[in-house]
Amino acid sequence: MSVLGFKPWCRVHRLAEVDPADLEALGVRLVLLDRDNTCVPRGEHDPAPDVVAWCERARELGLRLALVSNNWSVAALKTTSAALEAPVVTFALKPLPFGLWSAMEAAGVPAEQTVLVGDQLFTDGLGSLLANIPVILVDPQSTRDLFYTRWLRPLEARLMEDVPYGWERARAERARARGADSGGKAS
Ligand SMILES: [Mg+2]
Repeated sequence: MSVLGFKPWCRVHRLAEVDPADLEALGVRLVLLDRDNTCVPRGEHDPAPDVVAWCERARELGLRLALVSNNWSVAALKTTSAALEAPVVTFALKPLPFGLWSAMEAAGVPAEQTVLVGDQLFTDGLGSLLANIPVILVDPQSTRDLFYTRWLRPLEARLMEDVPYGWERARAERARARGADSGGKAS
């Protein structure tokens, strides 16, 4: 896919396919997480168990986590924030980059050591482009979407149809790029 040259770093069915240890080895220090349909199926209250386990593992490895959500419900976001032990930026208005910048500033981590995980091309994908951070796009966790997202999903699917799934290829590409950046020493 190429939308104005934009390409997600990686596309996976679920976040669990991405090993947090790989992120840490690739120099990532901060993971920004979208909430709805990335961590919590839309319309539900609790994060998916595999997401909870993933966040726990990431924290053990020393990765910082933060939720950056367009959701207006402060109560729902606080619940998810507590469940994932991650601070939250509410009403982030993605794809505008301000919420992403705010989360990076609060964590004290620059864009080059940050990654965003989300389920929507036009909010998370475009937001990552504007904030200049890589994005991992996951499949939405439920078929429930806000009405305007429902309208955009077919276009999103069309634009993403030639983007292959798989973490290993993305991991290897990033490792190679980092190796080139640091004079050939792959990490
Ligand atoms: Mg979402």
